[in-house]
Amino acid sequence: MSIIHILPEAVANKIAAGEVVERPASVVKELLENSLDAGAGRVEIAVEGGGKRLIRIVDDGQGMTHDDALLAFERHATSKIRSAEDLFEISTLGFRGEALPSIAAVARLVLETRHASENSGTRVEIAGGKLRDVKEVAWPQGTSIEVRDLFYITPARRKFLKSESTELGHIATLATHYALAHPEKSFRLTSLTNEILNVPPVGSHRERLYQVMGGQTLEQLLEMAPVERRVLTAVLPEAGEQGESSGEAPLIRVEGFISRPEVQKLNRNNIYFFVNRRLVRDRLILHAITEAYRNILPAGVFPIALIFLEIPPSEVDVNVHPSKIEVRFRHGSFVHDLVRDSIRQTLLATRPVASFPMSRSAPPAGLEVEAADVADRLAEEPPLMRGGVMPPPPARPTGPGTGREFHLTPARMEPRPQRLPLDSALAPYAPSSALAPLPVTTEEAAIQTPRELPLDLQPLGQVQESFIVAVNSDGLWIVDQHAAHERVLFDRHVRRREEKKVEVQRLLMPIIVQLKPEQQVTYQVIADELAANGFEVEPFGQRTVAIKAAPADLPADEVEKLMIEILEGASQEGATLSLDDLRGRIAASISCHAAIKVNMALERSKMDWLLQALGGADCPMTCPHGRPTVLRYGMKDLMKAFKRM
Ligand code: ADP
Ligand code: MG
Repeated sequence: MSIIHILPEAVANKIAAGEVVERPASVVKELLENSLDAGAGRVEIAVEGGGKRLIRIVDDGQGMTHDDALLAFERHATSKIRSAEDLFEISTLGFRGEALPSIAAVARLVLETRHASENSGTRVEIAGGKLRDVKEVAWPQGTSIEVRDLFYITPARRKFLKSESTELGHIATLATHYALAHPEKSFRLTSLTNEILNVPPVGSHRERLYQVMGGQTLEQLLEMAPVERRVLTAVLPEAGEQGESSGEAPLIRVEGFISRPEVQKLNRNNIYFFVNRRLVRDRLILHAITEAYRNILPAGVFPIALIFLEIPPSEVDVNVHPSKIEVRFRHGSFVHDLVRDSIRQTLLATRPVASFPMSRSAPPAGLEVEAADVADRLAEEPPLMRGGVMPPPPARPTGPGTGREFHLTPARMEPRPQRLPLDSALAPYAPSSALAPLPVTTEEAAIQTPRELPLDLQPLGQVQESFIVAVNSDGLWIVDQHAAHERVLFDRHVRRREEKKVEVQRLLMPIIVQLKPEQQVTYQVIADELAANGFEVEPFGQRTVAIKAAPADLPADEVEKLMIEILEGASQEGATLSLDDLRGRIAASISCHAAIKVNMALERSKMDWLLQALGGADCPMTCPHGRPTVLRYGMKDLMKAFKRM
């Protein structure tokens, strides 16, 4: 019996051509995809020597018949598509019929498999593309493929492989991706010395995330409520509308996890986008994510995002790239907007207030605020320690003078390394199976996180003339006066820039600024935008300009610094900085230089004004650089800390 067939040449020619076996991880990818396509519920991967010496994948999928076990190694032999039309509606991970022959051509391969329709299994041995042995074996249903000595036949290519740990890292990353996309299946990855991944089946992405990345990462993430929309009509379906007649606009569903606004990553390595459970790289979606975080995260830093898109196969072309890592959407801008809006919605709905995760991590240097006994006591009872979700806090420092420190850790979110073992390729290879089952926390988190900044805050005073302390019936609030004012000014400036009504102040004396060559180049590129933002600048000889007017509210001694900062920021990314990014940066720079500084005494009326103005801002909880503006210590937290509940 045969399920596999060889594609006619005309069809084969329409398949994105190219080499798929680049390194051990690409072998693992192809074999894993085959196991998943075969309906496996459990996949076990064992590697030796970073996959260079051995890769073995065992699955409990449907297996292959004797005939198919041989046919599978022919070029363009596949059970997944038949005709060229099928290429437009691919619902499996594989479809090219090239992986097994390509792998068998460059390694020593042993396949053992049995299909439910046959009583005995088949063992096929191939080396360097040559069939060595075929025999009947006893084998449970499912498939095992063993790949030894990758590229033994082409020593030059073998030399190009990276170190064992690097290759193993790639394999770990890859297995993690598939594990994230398939929470209902179990995955295990082992090396000779370590169990790198071992995740039993779970019921949700959330639980799988917890298994793979741990509670701390999960805590940085917001879960996006699933959104379903029909292309074109763009209307959220009513309940029960789903199973309607075909011929209707295709239904697209998006869900996932995105990081809280205060989380900042220095690269895109934590952005994962899955289309029908296939991890893809897609600039369009990257753009949608960046757009969603515009003015919540500064340019040049990135969020964590895991976006799962379910889309009818006919809406997406996966036949773009030989390793199927790129896709093309039929309705790209619709998908883009759907993703952007869903993320934005989640961010706005949450408007998270950073609370006091004291003692969860070492505070950034220089931000330790001395406080009274009260605070010391609060530190002992971190209010966020709900239901034992988080690991126990590390012991507090006991050295002289440290007993009273009150760490406002989240106030300044300097980018710092996070434990997200995906891009770090699971560096310590810690087995994640040791993690306990995931306790439910979403609801609780929602209760503790207010959605907006209330307008009835009563300021009591300042801590070190830097942080405004305020109260209302909800509890105690602490506001970073500089960050808060920045947010207020930023919003106002953006509005006025849009209306072309930026207020300008004439300077009594022009400020003469010398520009470096690259600054000069940048200046010429952005001169119009500078003018639109309230700068009146005139050339003043070789590489020198005279600033005659600047945005209002800016202290005169900040003008030069601001101008240089804008030029530097705009040139760092050269031509790639879009006009929107540039505008965002200029607005952020202006608001930063014009805002109230720290270590500045404020009168009560000024504090009142600032709190009101912040409450009216679009995103009151973060400054334009993405740092939190407000911390809250809720009534419940106080009651708990004082053991009154
Ligand atoms: P493709 O996945 O593109 O069809 P491959 O060369 O990867 O091409 O595999 C060829 C065929 O071998 C598949 O279409 C499938 O029918 C069969 N096959 C490969 N791996 C497995 C497996 N683990 N379990 C069952 N069948 C498999
Ligand atoms: Mg395949």
